[in-house]
Amino acid sequence: MRRLFAIFTMVAVMAVIAPGGLCSAAAIIDRGSSGEAVVDLQKMLKSRGFDPGSLDGVFGPRTEMAVRSFQEKLGLVVDGIVGPQTAEALRSDFASRARRLLAGKTIAVDPGHGGWNSGAVGQGGTREADNVLAIGLELERMLKQLGGRVVMTRRTDKELTGPGSSDAEELGARVAVAERAGADMFISIHNNAYEKNPGVSGAMTFHHGGDASGRLAARLLEGITGETGLEPVGVEWAGFYVLRHSRVPATLVEIGFMTNRQDEKALSSSAFRSRAARGLLVGIVEYLGGR
Ligand SMILES: [Zn+2]
Repeated sequence: MRRLFAIFTMVAVMAVIAPGGLCSAAAIIDRGSSGEAVVDLQKMLKSRGFDPGSLDGVFGPRTEMAVRSFQEKLGLVVDGIVGPQTAEALRSDFASRARRLLAGKTIAVDPGHGGWNSGAVGQGGTREADNVLAIGLELERMLKQLGGRVVMTRRTDKELTGPGSSDAEELGARVAVAERAGADMFISIHNNAYEKNPGVSGAMTFHHGGDASGRLAARLLEGITGETGLEPVGVEWAGFYVLRHSRVPATLVEIGFMTNRQDEKALSSSAFRSRAARGLLVGIVEYLGGR
């Protein structure tokens, strides 16, 4: 099963980033298969608009129907079996679609906080500012690899304005970065905190109204939860400064809760940060695809 897992777990992006490592496996997944490889297959199908039913890791009738629909759409042999050809199609299909949709687009990526403003600090001492910078830089790398243009509001552990500046000045500077670059969308990355109940875990996304921002928030939540396994807490309206003042579709994502031990621990790992970035990438691509 490890090899199967290797085929799908990185399919969405890593095939583009490390094409050598994933092409040799000739494993087959079909009706009756189960496990992580099937969860990854189901996530991929779902993110592409094919409904595999619940993401339960069991290759049942609905997952088979989704595989058949995918095969039919791509002109492959329609047998409901994921062999090397269908696995490769799932891989290259995402990459080529992502390249096509990202061409000519500028994504503003805003890792929240930084410098003197650490954001939320977990019990283990993890700083939100560090987590979101790592996720943001990984997202930048992935987007650029697929031909997207990226403008970062920060690339180091620094705020844009000095100590003594107001929140409005700092956040205004971030919105201005996106505007100067003519960004097509603004994505602010944060980790949540809820002191009252450390049991609360999961991901949320926020927008300030409008069809495009709402869609972007919804696709990003699907992407994050699909790739990281975090529970979806919700897509909500919010009047945050960066959302209110952005003239382009804007979303603020809260990936995990710093007040939750498990979320905090996950957020400190580079593997999880990478999955979170991949989730954002998948969400961006699906949004650009019009979903
Ligand atoms: Zn924050």
